[in-house]
Amino acid sequence: MKIVIYEIEPWEREAFEDLQAEHDVVFESSTLSTETALKHPDAEIISTFVYSSLDADVLQKFPQLKMIATRSTGFDHIHLKTCVERDIKVANVPSYGEATVAEHVFALLLAISHHLIDAVDRTRRGDFSQAGLRGFDLMGKTMGIVGTGHIGRHAAHIARGFSMKVVAYDIAPDEAAAEAIGFRYRDFKDVLGAADVLSLHVPATPATRHMIAAEEFAAMKDGAILINTARGSIVDVRSLIGALSSGKIAAAGLDVLPEEPVIREEAELLRSAFSHEHDLESLLADHILLRLRNVLITPHSAFNTREAVRRILDTTRTNLDAFIAAQPQNLVS
Ligand code: NAD
Repeated sequence: MKIVIYEIEPWEREAFEDLQAEHDVVFESSTLSTETALKHPDAEIISTFVYSSLDADVLQKFPQLKMIATRSTGFDHIHLKTCVERDIKVANVPSYGEATVAEHVFALLLAISHHLIDAVDRTRRGDFSQAGLRGFDLMGKTMGIVGTGHIGRHAAHIARGFSMKVVAYDIAPDEAAAEAIGFRYRDFKDVLGAADVLSLHVPATPATRHMIAAEEFAAMKDGAILINTARGSIVDVRSLIGALSSGKIAAAGLDVLPEEPVIREEAELLRSAFSHEHDLESLLADHILLRLRNVLITPHSAFNTREAVRRILDTTRTNLDAFIAAQPQNLVS
């Protein structure tokens, strides 16, 4: 089989190197795009991370493609309809970082509640004053969790450890988890109205696109905090800027933005600024958010711990082995 592994760092290669004994394995540090796809038209298996776009155009460049092993939980960067039509199997890493991403939620939240970035910046300048650094306790506050899958449940568990009350919304409630962890399911609107801190953990789907927009911000408590480590498309960033500037939302911690791959690679912006591939209004809104003092943005790094990346590589390797052995696992299509 010709196997091409994209977006791979040199130290990660060892997870796949022994496949070379029986297969033609190629490592590419670049993302997969319409341009980079041209280099390996004979690929039968490809593996990427989330910054590659496996849209219909890109998939068309691989006439022999049989399998995609995404090194992520989310698979919204892959055009599943084309994969189904062409019988290309898609395997993901269903759970590798529920603790990891949930811990990042609290890294963002505690950085907000303790004005951590400003406080550290200040002492680095030799300034030990307290002005403007008064924060708030998490204990006793209400955490609203939207999506109680692997990560949402873990975030609820940590919130309980901080003595927060937890209310949650999910289209498929897990009452046993609620009972075990100590949270209550409520209607979506009730969760919005009750939350001092709202944390999003639903996947990016057509149903969750702009799930949090002007109407939802209006239903939230004055001065609530929004944390999004799920996907950028879930929040309408233009409405978020409105809610932040009116004070409705006091602060936001975001690990994901709608146009984040473009922001990550400004050169891409120059190439694509006049194309219709990107939503330029969202892109502009992202750039405004990047400059607000009450918004903390991390570069989609919630998953990025040594332990989680090891688990991603291990599961991806077993996904490849299972497919090659005609016993595919972790298929999403
Ligand atoms: P999961 O599949 O275990 O849980 C998702 C939950 O969302 C499920 O309980 C599901 O019922 C619920 N859901 C789906 N659609 C819904 C809707 N319309 N309304 C309400 N609930 C809905 O996924 P997970 O492992 O907890 O991950 C959640 C998301 O986090 C992923 O899809 C991914 O986009 C994101 N993620 C981000 C990072 C990062 O580094 N920032 C890392 C991993 C995952």
